[in-house]
Amino acid sequence: SVRSPLNDPLDLLEVPADVPAEERAIQQTVRDVLADHARPVIADCFENHRFPRELVPRLGELGVLGMHLDGYGCAGSSALAYGLACMELEAVDSGLRSFVSVQGSLSMFSLHRFGSEEQKQEWLPQLAKGAAIGCFGLTEPDAGSDPSGIRTRAERRGGDWVLRGSKTWITNGGIADVATVWATTEDGVRGFVVPRGTPGFVTRDITGKLSLRASVTSELFFDDVRLPDSAVLPGAKGLRAPLTCLDEARFGIVFGAVGAARDALQAALAYADSRVQFGRPVSGFQLTQRKLAGMTVELSTALLLALHLARLKDADRLRPEQISAGKLHNVRTAVEIARESRTILGGNGISGEYSPLRHANNLESVLTYEGTEEVHTLVVGAALTGLQSFR
Ligand code: FAD
Repeated sequence: SVRSPLNDPLDLLEVPADVPAEERAIQQTVRDVLADHARPVIADCFENHRFPRELVPRLGELGVLGMHLDGYGCAGSSALAYGLACMELEAVDSGLRSFVSVQGSLSMFSLHRFGSEEQKQEWLPQLAKGAAIGCFGLTEPDAGSDPSGIRTRAERRGGDWVLRGSKTWITNGGIADVATVWATTEDGVRGFVVPRGTPGFVTRDITGKLSLRASVTSELFFDDVRLPDSAVLPGAKGLRAPLTCLDEARFGIVFGAVGAARDALQAALAYADSRVQFGRPVSGFQLTQRKLAGMTVELSTALLLALHLARLKDADRLRPEQISAGKLHNVRTAVEIARESRTILGGNGISGEYSPLRHANNLESVLTYEGTEEVHTLVVGAALTGLQSFR
């Protein structure tokens, strides 16, 4: 007998069946809540360049903000559960996953790992609830892939600090209640906790984006911003500190990319089944099946890789070059799947009514942020050869 069509391409190889019941239940809950509250609004948000901020408290209730952190109102779940949540968020839109990555893995993680007890008590519970929003400012107009070139400077003035400089391409910047800001000091790079409203600190949103339109991306400006000594992250010394935070966020991207690709491919499968040309569904043509089969195999491979890295992370054995390999492979694969899925939708594929091109456009940002494809290639190259080829 002919099996009924699979509506989830990942079911073909039954990869998700390997996920333990507890994590599957968390994933399903996230998927269901997003189906009710995020899916109905996301295409409109993308079209209107609007972040669905009204969903933030709901994400807090769901427990996905700072999900893999312990204490301070955070869920303390496994890396695997966090990854699967990212997958469901990005299956809706990379902008939503970006929000959660920046809130949990950059803003909250930087406070959790490097902050003082007072900083943690003040910010983590409200960030976990979604009662406050955080951002993470490392990139500057003249320092992207090479963060050692940052020019934002913090200098001692009496017992205080004075912060001067600017940041750009900062996710959540314009809506953040608190910013983790990285600056050079006489002791090297240090992190500062800068609340919104601090005199001299202003933000300006970046408009006209063709990617991640359902996400806020901003510039931050610091004009002689006076901060108390208690604003310094005491545990963060040197550039290694922000890079450790970025590793956390990249891990979520390894899973998130699989979600975006899965959603694009599901749209292509459904469309190919219902669209009739030359008297038959386009899913019956060999060239379409070649695309669908190839994408399904690639998607399953990407999920297997993500699950493997989650096991390493939960065993506390995940190394930065392994995260680079995962980000490199899965985002590249996801971009290809989203673009190819779009071709199966023909002309309708360029309409905002369907998700593949939105995902493909979003994934252009994902390919670039948190370390570009090229930089991660060089990280893997350096691990293999022992030779750094960055400079
Ligand atoms: P550049 O570093 O100028 O790179 C340009 C090109 O040169 C790239 O192709 C790059 O791969 C290549 N290149 C650079 N160096 C090398 C090399 N050694 N060898 C080979 N090729 C090289 N930053 C934050 O701090 N916080 C955020 O929240 C944040 N959110 C972002 C959101 C969005 C939507 C985007 C687009 C960016 C965000 N970023 C954020 C910034 C992001 O991390 C940077 O864009 C990224 O690090 C690349 O830097 P750049 O854009 O300056 O590109």
